[in-house]
Amino acid sequence: MSEPLLEELGACQRCSRLLVHRAALAPRRGLSLEGYHNGPVPGFGDPNARVFLVGLAPGAHGANRTGRPFTGDGAGDFMYPLLHQAGFSNQAEAYAPDDGLQLRDLYISNAVKCLPPANKPQGAEFANCRPYLLAEQKRLKRLKVVILLGRGAFDSYLRLYYDLGVIRRLKDYPFHHGAVYPLPGGPDLVACYHTSRYNVQTGRMTSALFLDLLARVRQLLERSPGG
Ligand code: SF4
Repeated sequence: MSEPLLEELGACQRCSRLLVHRAALAPRRGLSLEGYHNGPVPGFGDPNARVFLVGLAPGAHGANRTGRPFTGDGAGDFMYPLLHQAGFSNQAEAYAPDDGLQLRDLYISNAVKCLPPANKPQGAEFANCRPYLLAEQKRLKRLKVVILLGRGAFDSYLRLYYDLGVIRRLKDYPFHHGAVYPLPGGPDLVACYHTSRYNVQTGRMTSALFLDLLARVRQLLERSPGG
């Protein structure tokens, strides 16, 4: 799929279940659905990024409301200050597309661009959306490292390379936090627990854990050809 595909993203209607779901979405109390983005959420960030961070899908009242990945919900409230601390953005605050946030050496998107029921996209929806993911990656000409938040994003990204014939056996790439898989010809894939509010509240994901992973990403960047 070519990069111009991304120009069609806003009008995409490939996943009928997701269209029905967002049409019936109840807005957050005190808000109106007219104020919601409530459509496919494109990636954003530094076009010259060497790091691509991929989450699962827009949160109902986060990215699906604001129109920018991880913006306006617990997952982003946790993640953006730490990305700033690790030098991947100009500021810690991230609450709206016009908040002044600029990512540095980092591009952020989701494996599935539309809000799924119960935060659980189906296999066909991952597959429908993979061409957009591939198109986003193709834009990143300097790409070295892909951080995959959670098993859903990880599995979908692996499937992308499997379909391209780059990897032969998916089971050779088990998901566990901190795993690094250098792919033939690059990039390095880095598995990471999702920064969801649930994972943070249960202690599965912590600030220290995420900062350690970002430090590992820095090491990978320094070791890669051309640094
Ligand atoms: S999830 Fe992706 S493929 Fe499905 S409707 Fe949304 S943009 Fe299209």
